[in-house]
Order: sequence, then structure tokens, then C-alpha cells
Amino acid sequence: MHATIQKDIEEIIGYFKAGEKVFIVGCDNCAAKCHSGGIPETQEMANRLQKRGINVIGWCVPQPPGVSLCKLSNTKKVLQEQYGDQIKEADSFLVLACGQGFHTVLDATEGAMVHPGCDTIFGGETVSDNFITEYCSLCGECIVDFAGGLCPVTLCAKSLLNGPCGGAKDGKCEVDRNRDCGWQLIYDRLRALGRLDQMEAYMPPKRYSKWSRPRSLTLGDGEATFSSLAGSHTVVNHD
Ligand code: SF4
Ligand code: SF4
Repeated sequence: MHATIQKDIEEIIGYFKAGEKVFIVGCDNCAAKCHSGGIPETQEMANRLQKRGINVIGWCVPQPPGVSLCKLSNTKKVLQEQYGDQIKEADSFLVLACGQGFHTVLDATEGAMVHPGCDTIFGGETVSDNFITEYCSLCGECIVDFAGGLCPVTLCAKSLLNGPCGGAKDGKCEVDRNRDCGWQLIYDRLRALGRLDQMEAYMPPKRYSKWSRPRSLTLGDGEATFSSLAGSHTVVNHD
């Protein structure tokens, strides 16, 4: 899940030139779950902007229900087949979705001005309907096995790989005393698993070239290729 939060309405209004014809696009997957760009929020954004004098000529949240805006083939089809006239008339698009959904609208509308209506804040786990939190920083090289399944890159404020910094107090992080020390969490989990011996292991520095952006994934018949600054790496998903 890509967690997003709507930008302040004044920042959004500041995008538009006088008379600019705006079409708003939301997302029925992650942005809907974050209440930043589902059907109610997209409709409400249209109402708020119209009340402030912005020339909103239409809005949509591409369907079928639950589909991600960042699925280009579907977004392009919905925009062109169902909203073609409004799309041609629009001077710009306001996107209520993550940066990937934003770029999908940019691709699907071929050359139009596209404005971001949300900030994309992290990739997270939907713990409950009203709580999403970050357990993975999408580093491209998962090392959590040695840490009992918890990610030191994400849960430690300094992303330390080989144990705590020494500044934790009462299990809380020295960078922010309100949050748990990631390494305390890792220690507690390994102890509960009976695998404290894994604390002895040395974790070599990460290959940050795998974290370089932009990265890509190419899917073939039973194989997938991950490309980054570290090069291309293909895995075969069957025997
Ligand atoms: S090690 Fe990397 S891929 Fe694994 S959970 Fe942490 S950030 Fe995510
Ligand atoms: S106190 Fe713990 S979480 Fe905070 S920086 Fe140090 S090791 Fe990382």
C-alpha cells in the first residue's frame, strides 16, 4: 500500500491559473483506503474547488471497484472511453493518488499539465482500517531474516544493521523518546523466537545501488527482471 495524504487546499488552489479547466482523478485502491482520493474524497475535492472559484469540469475514480490508478492500461481506457470529451476539454488534471498514480495519469493523458493533490508518504502495512504504518523502506535487498523478520533499516532511526547505537533508554529511541528502539524490538523478537544467537551475526553494508532510483521490474514467462544501478537481475519463478 502506498500511503498518501491530501495536500493543503491552499497549496492545491495555488496551482491553477485563472479559468484553467481542471479534471480531477482519484484512485479506488490505496488512495481510497487512505481517504485521500477515493470516490467521496474526489467528489468532495471537486465541490471544495468549485466553491473557491476553480473551474472543475469533471472528476472520476477509475473503476472497476478497488482497481489501482497506477494500472496504466485500465486508467487510459477509462479516461479515454468514458471521459473522452472532458479529457479533451481539460487544461489540466489534479490527481488524488500516490506518485505512481500521478504519473499514470500523466502517461494516460499524453502531454497535459498534471498537478499532484497528495503527498506520497511511505509504503505501509494496513494494520487496521484506520491505521497504516511503515515496516519496509523498499530497499531492494531484504535482510530481515537475520533480524527475526523485523527491518532494522526501517525500524531503527539510524538504519543501523549491526545492533543498537547505545542511546536507547527504557527501550525508547534516542532520536525520539516516544518511539520504540528498533533494535530493542529486534532483540525482543529474537529472544521470543529462541534465536538470540543471530545477534552475533555480522551484517555487511547494504548495496545501496539496489536502492537507486528509478528502478524497474520486467515480467516475462515465469521470470522477473529487477533493474537498478546495481545492474539487472533475473529470477526464474519455476523449476
Ligand atoms: S530490508 Fe529492505 S526490503 Fe527488507 S523490509 Fe527492510 S527495507 Fe524492506
Ligand atoms: S536508539 Fe535504537 S532505534 Fe534509535 S537510533 Fe539508536 S539503535 Fe536506532
